[in-house]
Amino acid sequence: MPEDDAIRCDACPVLCYIKPGRTGACDRYANDNGNLIRIDPHVVLDRAVSRGDSVVPFLDRDREWDGSIVTGPDSFVTAIGAGTTYPDYKPAPFIISSEVQGVDMVTVVTEGIFSYCGLKLKIDTDRHLGPETNLVRAQGEPVGHVTTSEYGSQMLSLGGVRHLTGGSRNEGNVTCDTLLKLCNRESVTLTIDDGATVIVQAGRPPVVDGVLEERMRVGCGSATIGMFAKQWFGKVDEVVVVDDHITGVLSEHQAGKLLGIPPTGIKLKGRRSTPGRYFKVAEPGTAWGGTNIEDPLSILQEFNPKIAWPKLRMLMVSTTGEHHAYFELDDALKPLECDLPGSLSESVARIRENCEPAMCTVLFMGGAGGSLRAGVTENPVRLTRSVRDTLTRVTCGGAPVYVWPGGGITFMVDVTRMPEHAFGYVPTPALVAPIEFTLKLKDYAALGGYMDHVRPLDSIMQGESRKHVSARTENPWPLSARPLRRDEP
Ligand code: SF4
Repeated sequence: MPEDDAIRCDACPVLCYIKPGRTGACDRYANDNGNLIRIDPHVVLDRAVSRGDSVVPFLDRDREWDGSIVTGPDSFVTAIGAGTTYPDYKPAPFIISSEVQGVDMVTVVTEGIFSYCGLKLKIDTDRHLGPETNLVRAQGEPVGHVTTSEYGSQMLSLGGVRHLTGGSRNEGNVTCDTLLKLCNRESVTLTIDDGATVIVQAGRPPVVDGVLEERMRVGCGSATIGMFAKQWFGKVDEVVVVDDHITGVLSEHQAGKLLGIPPTGIKLKGRRSTPGRYFKVAEPGTAWGGTNIEDPLSILQEFNPKIAWPKLRMLMVSTTGEHHAYFELDDALKPLECDLPGSLSESVARIRENCEPAMCTVLFMGGAGGSLRAGVTENPVRLTRSVRDTLTRVTCGGAPVYVWPGGGITFMVDVTRMPEHAFGYVPTPALVAPIEFTLKLKDYAALGGYMDHVRPLDSIMQGESRKHVSARTENPWPLSARPLRRDEP
């Protein structure tokens, strides 16, 4: 039984009884002398007009900027710290009207509780992190899996309703904790079954098996040949760019052919795809070009004695330039390692120079197509249609989101474009993420919105203290009367 002076929080299904001076299970709500309060400050974005930043021209980038800076309110009330209503048929905590370019707008603001959510994690590295579909673990618990390799990056899919709710209690809690830390830009250690241990943090380089990854590859082995063939012409007879996916061979590649580079009699292991492009020359790993080889010669077979010649010069290099070795054939046509000539060290340095810095990208992905919509309108499907028809703009803490086509409101957002510490959790377990819906007031009325709960922006700005944060200049200003184009976030 609750103590007499405890109050009940009804902001999520946990329904905590909270004693005076104490917080609820999620540390987001507290009992302050008998009043239920949201502990974290409510974040308001301020558009830094005085800085002369790019907000206005970027906002209306499909028309000429008319020189007028002020196109609407310079404050945007985010959902960060706004609180949640539960059950969802109650109106969202803030439904705020404002006038933008002479048009009456409304923004519906709530901290959504997402049981259906996860992360797409892009880790810029050539190194093999683990076989596709293998489990990714945090604190020993399965929290996701390895998905596809993309160009110079390894993708992981973390979270999702199955890990949050479908396993043991500990699996759900660790999954929630891992997602929360990554969304709030903290570092997390992940281990992959039969693979690597990697430390990841949004906007930072990954650390793979204790090694800080500095750069992502310039391209696959074939692309590297295409980019640098001209720079090698005349300085070396053969170049092999070692890559786990597509290893390139200069003399056989179309780039070499066009330059008139003669055949060298080289033979590679693996499977020849097209001229100068080989698949599976080795097993995946964390050594040369994301393979498991430490000795590059291990991917070569004997040179063809009818074509090769003594003193033939050969450069072997990885797709980041991190590994390289130079060889000359002896009289028996065996490669002997020699010092890298100065004329070639320049081209190896050029490969490194063309690599971008490696980093981890964290995209939060959530499904807002469920009951959360009922806090916006009494007829939830109309909100879905309005988002699909681009009449309603969805933002997360004021940051732009990508809404997936098809049913529901399934969106993704880059957590580094959001204000810091925008995410929370509840112990159901589920993640709490800010979400705002902005649309014309007349459209809001048409979709069955809670018109009697609409209050003007000014009434929010006065009274309770709020934390003001400068809007990020790379984000479009979230308050716009202009309908979205289909191809923009
Ligand atoms: S977990 Fe947090 S939001 Fe849920 S009832 Fe408890 S204090 Fe309220």
